[in-house]
Amino acid sequence: MPEEFNIAIAGGGIGGLTLALTLHRAGFTSVIYERADVIAELGVGINILPHAIRHLVDLGMLESLDSIGIRTRELIYETTTG
Ligand SMILES: Cc1cc2nc3c(=O)[nH]c(=O)nc-3n(C[C@H](O)[C@H](O)[C@H](O)COP(=O)(O)OP(=O)(O)OC[C@H]3O[C@@H](n4cnc5c(N)ncnc54)[C@H](O)[C@@H]3O)c2cc1C
Repeated sequence: MPEEFNIAIAGGGIGGLTLALTLHRAGFTSVIYERADVIAELGVGINILPHAIRHLVDLGMLESLDSIGIRTRELIYETTTG
């Protein structure tokens, strides 16, 4: 068991939540401090890139992500001239 620390995470966005889960997996307890009164959807979609997905899968999130998301089959970036 790791040494005891008091770990505070400022912000409950994807970064803070991922950090908290990563710490939890490593045996550390943390407390997330979020300044927003309410966590609400913005109404926009988020495309999670492969390197980030890999980390979330390592954290055991694949099933949850598949239940709410759509897997990207193809992503194309184009300039104004194609
Ligand atoms: C419209 C839009 C579309 C986007 N689309 C994509 C996309 O498709 N793919 C992608 O990878 N990224 C996308 N992004 C970017 C992505 O949302 C951010 O990179 C990501 O949310 C950053 O996560 P974060 O946890 O670092 O910060 P945030 O999500 O900004 O979370 C930070 C949290 O910390 C809280 N906070 C701040 N200061 C304090 C404090 N002092 N004390 C306590 N709490 C605090 C804030 O209230 C907030 O909840 C998009 C962003 C926007 C706005």
